[in-house]
This record gives sequence, structure tokens and C-alpha cells, in this order.
Amino acid sequence: MKACQYLEINQPPQIVDIEKPQPGPGEVLLRITASGACHSDEFIMSLPEEQYVYGLPLTLGHEGAGIVEELGEGASGVEIGESVAVYGPWGCGLCHPCKQGKENYCRYAAERGILPPGLGAPGSMAEYMIVDSPRHLVKLGELDPVQNVALTDAGLTPYHAIKPSLPKLIPGRVAVVIGAGGLGHMGVQILKALTATTVVALDPKESARQLALDVGADHALPSDESAIAEIKRISGGLGATAVFDFVGIEATAALAAKMVHFESDIVMVGVGPGTIPVGFFTLRYETSVRAPYWGSRSELEEVFELARIGAIHVETETFGLDDAPTVYERMHEGTLRGRGIVVP
Ligand code: NAD
Ligand code: ZN
Repeated sequence: MKACQYLEINQPPQIVDIEKPQPGPGEVLLRITASGACHSDEFIMSLPEEQYVYGLPLTLGHEGAGIVEELGEGASGVEIGESVAVYGPWGCGLCHPCKQGKENYCRYAAERGILPPGLGAPGSMAEYMIVDSPRHLVKLGELDPVQNVALTDAGLTPYHAIKPSLPKLIPGRVAVVIGAGGLGHMGVQILKALTATTVVALDPKESARQLALDVGADHALPSDESAIAEIKRISGGLGATAVFDFVGIEATAALAAKMVHFESDIVMVGVGPGTIPVGFFTLRYETSVRAPYWGSRSELEEVFELARIGAIHVETETFGLDDAPTVYERMHEGTLRGRGIVVP
């Protein structure tokens, strides 16, 4: 089968021909219908050799959807021919966080070498992939896999980032999304669907600001110091109640820290090297800072429900599997609108 693999440190991924996998006991073989390209893929491919821990060759793709092709011995709960999406942050399934569905925070995944598809295990940018357990599948039903596959990360991660801030996001307040790309344009929609806040998107790219407005942002501004005064004005002098930073570099972290008011939240989702110093004299009183990773199994069900009722949708650009390396080039150039989706 064809697969898009990262083969050599800091070199572009390539399309290769590899053996079609066979499902072992308890596993599920999917024929891939869609696979999303995430900026995290580009991030790991930019790491120097000494920091790269995902194995080579690596079949990319941690946002996957497919048709159940074959069930390994004892695997049950899904039928052959069913359309499903893959929950990516695989855990052991048995520890306390896993029992709560929070496999993204499995206690044992790291020490047992349980790795997400596309980030260690073979991913979805291929004609077929193995899912280690039916527990990691969400039934898509009538939802189109190409339009919805990115919900597994670009939807789930912002949802998980936003949900704990909901009690603070009361009507009249301002929520800020920094970076209106794959995750950010979903963050805007999730905020609009779940709150009555004014949503402001910040992005240096005019096309990304337009995308944010198109999907429901109330304002879209360049991502620089001028946004601080503008957000103050929009919020009636208060400042932002929550900032969701989908970039996470020093510049965006510094902006976030300057635009919040008391008892606000700053949520660092982007994997940039930015940090937010917290101290009595360094940040507004009782501002909370957190850096969440992906989301839980039950939250993924909730995200798909939002899509089912039409409250959120992913803006997509589609590519054939042979063009998968092009998606990462386009991501690097910053010319993608929303999410790039590979359709084998
Ligand atoms: P993307 O490439 O689709 O979008 C990034 C957006 O940020 C682009 O619109 C770009 O113009 C904008 N941007 C760049 N510099 C900016 C700046 N200084 N200020 C404001 N906007 C700026 O990326 P994506 O796939 O949406 O991923 C976003 C980030 O989230 C990446 O760092 C990715 O690795 C990370 N991520 C984290 C998790 C997690 O679990 N925490 C999960 C998935 C992705
Ligand atoms: Zn991702």
C-alpha cells in the first residue's frame, strides 16, 4: 500500500510503497477515507535528531478516518464496512485517567511505549492503518469523513482547551484566539457555539483573519501590540477574559499576558517555546495559565455532536495521497485555508 512517511531527519516526507498491515488480536484494520495534516507534524519534522523521539520511518497522520476493513481476533463493537474516526491519544485503557476517558493523560502510555498513530505508531496518511482497539473509534454515521476527520485533533484540542474556561466566559466578556489556522478556526467556532462572548481572532495573515471572520469571529486583528488597546476598547476597558494561544511563541505569550484582566485564563495550545511567567507582580491577579494536550474520548464524542447539529464545521482543502508532501509545503508557506486533508 501507499503511505506518506517521514524517513530522514529534517527532510520532506515521501510517498512510499509498504506492506499492507494485518490486524493482530483486538485490533482493527481501517481503509483510510481521510487524514488531516496538523502543524504538529511539521513541528516534529523540524526537530533536530537528538530531540526527535517518534521513530523512523514514521507513517504520518494523527487525524484519521476510515472504513472498518477487518477485525482482529476478539475485536468487537464495530462492524465491517462501518465509517469511523480515530481517537488519537492512545492510552493503556486501565489506569485512572484512562477510565475517565482521559487517555491523553494516561499514566503508563509513555513507559509502556504506547504512542499515538502518526506520532510514533503508524498513522493515517496511508491507504490502511491499524487501530489498537475499537475503544479508539468514533462512529461517524452520516458525517462525511473528509469534512470531519480533523475534528479528531483540530476540533478536539481547542474544545478541551476551552471547556474548563466556560464558567468564566459569561456574556459580555471577550475571548481571544491567537492563530486562526487549523485549530484556531475551530476554536473560534467552539467559542461561538458554547458561549455568548465576543470572540476576537489575532493572526498576522490577512487570509487567516478573513477565515476567522467567515467562521464567526466578531473581530479579527493583526497579531501585534496594537491588539492590546483594541481588545481593551472592545471589552469596555476590561481586557480579555480568556486567551487561547494556538501559536505559543514568546511574542504571542507576551501578548496574551498583556491583554488579560483579573481572574482570566491563558491557555497555551501551540507548541512554540513561549512561556508565561506567573507571579504576584508579573501577571494580573488570579490569572490561570495552562498548557493542555489533545482531549478525552468523551470530549471527542461531544465535538462530533457539535458537528452533527451544524454548530461547527472544518474548512478544508483536499489533496490526493500522492500530494501529501505538498500539504506540508503549503502549511510551511502558510497558504492553506483551514485544514489540509489527504484523501487516499
Ligand atoms: P496551522 O499552521 O494550521 O495554523 C497556525 C496559524 O497561526 C496560522 O494561521 C498562522 O498564520 C498563525 N500564526 C503564525 N504566527 C502567528 C503569530 N505570531 N500570531 C498569531 N498567529 C500566528 O497550525 P495548527 O495545525 O492549527 O496548529 C497550531 C498549533 O497547535 C501548532 O503549534 C501545533 O503544533 C499545536 N497543536 C497542539 C496540540 C496540543 O495538544 N496542545 C494539538 C494539535 C496541535
Ligand atoms: Zn495535531
